[in-house]
Amino acid sequence: MDDEMDKVRMTLDECRDLGIEVLTRHGCDEANARAIAATITAAERDRCHSHGLFRLPGYVTSLRNGKVNGRAVPRVERLAPSVVRVHGDRGFTPLAHEVGRAPLVEAVRETGMAALAITRTHHFAALWPETQALAEMGFVAFAFTSSPPYLAPAGGKTRFFGTNPMSFAWPRRGKPPMAFDQASAAMARGEIMITARDGGRVPDGVGIDGDGNPTNDPEAILAGAQLPFGGYKGGSIALMVDLLAGPLIGEVCSFEAGEQDNADGSAATGGELILALDPARFGGEDAIGHGERLFARMLAQEGVRLPGDRRLIARAETPEAGIEVPLVLHEKIEELRVG
Ligand code: NDP
Repeated sequence: MDDEMDKVRMTLDECRDLGIEVLTRHGCDEANARAIAATITAAERDRCHSHGLFRLPGYVTSLRNGKVNGRAVPRVERLAPSVVRVHGDRGFTPLAHEVGRAPLVEAVRETGMAALAITRTHHFAALWPETQALAEMGFVAFAFTSSPPYLAPAGGKTRFFGTNPMSFAWPRRGKPPMAFDQASAAMARGEIMITARDGGRVPDGVGIDGDGNPTNDPEAILAGAQLPFGGYKGGSIALMVDLLAGPLIGEVCSFEAGEQDNADGSAATGGELILALDPARFGGEDAIGHGERLFARMLAQEGVRLPGDRRLIARAETPEAGIEVPLVLHEKIEELRVG
């Protein structure tokens, strides 16, 4: 236990083992449990707590009520030379990523640019693990997924788009990839919830109340709608993500996912589109070196850092330092482990 008595310290291995134990106890088979626990552990390792152990109770809720298939067997199909589809069998996405990665890599090596469409899946995590994994293999990667509706479209007054995140990763020479991963919302829903819990106010532009009026009251926004970042520009990104992760791949849009969902707090059904590009097959012979020169010039400005650097700093520290889990969360997980 930590000095403050409100945190429990764990190693990354303990975190992974705890995840596997809880998930298998509540309906996952070994393959799904291992894949999900690896995703949770990677989030804890990079200090992305909102997608780490914090999510475990949500995974369990959806397994318990049968919304998600803990024994999913994702199926791969090659739809075209550069298009791979993984049918997720109503499971959580991590195993579909594992199953789809090798055929996607085979396709991008053959064709220079390939897409992986994951369907009938529940994405309950961050997106950087999937783009980073491809960039570690030397590919430029994008990922897009939608979620149940929380965002009003620019100019609108009610929820329509999900918080619709996208991630982009670029391989680096002798270093981990640069990867950013961001939602289309001005403020993460979790942060609005925490502000509401603490009785605070959110900045202008974060959301609107149930009548569509701008407000700084987090409770009113949670009951009303969030707004996209950057006004109509973020709204267009949310729209693009909805189209790419929905209609393009034969999956639901955010508003349809919301209509089908049981609102149990875990991920709704939906799809994900992942794109991979092989720099060696495009025009820039020195693409990666040229990217390094861009990064160096950019970082020469005081106050600038690369997206993802906060995670990489944490990643260097946590294998030795371990992770800290809030006691309240640890107790909740402990109940799930034995109950
Ligand atoms: P943040 O706003 O916290 O961060 C967005 C990106 O900006 C990160 O890559 C971050 O890198 C980078 N960044 C932050 N500060 C700086 C800076 N000063 N200079 C350069 N880059 C910076 O993320 P969001 O709240 O938008 O999203 C949080 C997560 O939630 C994402 O991982 C997203 O995938 C996930 N999500 C998942 C959903 C799903 O349905 N599965 C739905 C919605 C969101 P760094 O990490 O290094 O700070």
